[in-house]
Amino acid sequence: MVIQNYNEVKKLVENSEAISKRNQGDVTLIAVSKTKPASSIEELYNAGVRDFGENKVQEMCEKYEVLPKDIRWHLIGHLQTNKVKYIIDKVHLIHSVDSIKLANQIEKEAAKKNIVANILVEVNVAREESKFGLDTLEVIPIVTDIAKLPHIKINGLMTVAPFVDDPEKNRGIFKKLKQLSVDIDKKNIDNVSMNVLSMGMSGDFNVAIEEGSTMVRVGTSIFGERNYNR
Ligand SMILES: *Cc1c(COP(=O)(O)O)cnc(C)c1O
Repeated sequence: MVIQNYNEVKKLVENSEAISKRNQGDVTLIAVSKTKPASSIEELYNAGVRDFGENKVQEMCEKYEVLPKDIRWHLIGHLQTNKVKYIIDKVHLIHSVDSIKLANQIEKEAAKKNIVANILVEVNVAREESKFGLDTLEVIPIVTDIAKLPHIKINGLMTVAPFVDDPEKNRGIFKKLKQLSVDIDKKNIDNVSMNVLSMGMSGDFNVAIEEGSTMVRVGTSIFGERNYNR
């Protein structure tokens, strides 16, 4: 079932790539496996899937222990500074860096392991109070500061758009994040690339891809509804 769902989503991703004249394979589909068992991840892994998204440090670490080591783990949820040490050498990309304090902690832990941590800066484009992420106006100063940290590489930006019934309602938000990435790119800041735009979820990834997304984070459409009460 999850394989079938994944393949259907993959096809829709490819459709959107074609519609928006993007190259096939431009967009990475991240299977968001939070709350789902390792066995479901394994099913997709055996079908060739390598990119998985988790939003909790402990859950990611538990799954990391029991699953193949060539999985690319994406941390997409809020990250507390005191938990950076648990994931720093396990995670492929941290999508949710939203403060200089967190970046400093990542720098410290990455330096200890002598690695360079790949990160995205999370932007709360829609300015929803319930959401994490920087205000649009804060992004350039903070990117400029983080860029000075030698054990961090900024790869781009991420946003979590509002939950909407019609994906068209989020088009403006995706456009804004894309424009911000273009503005940053023009500044040619050392150590900063804007190759990655992580935007789009089950309800709106088609529109996000049309607006320039390079990574979509899809949970429900692949694994089904989540049950948080188990
Ligand atoms: C849960 C989650 C997703 C996936 O959401 P779906 O609507 O289930 O596709 C994407 N991004 C983040 C940050 C999430 O927490």
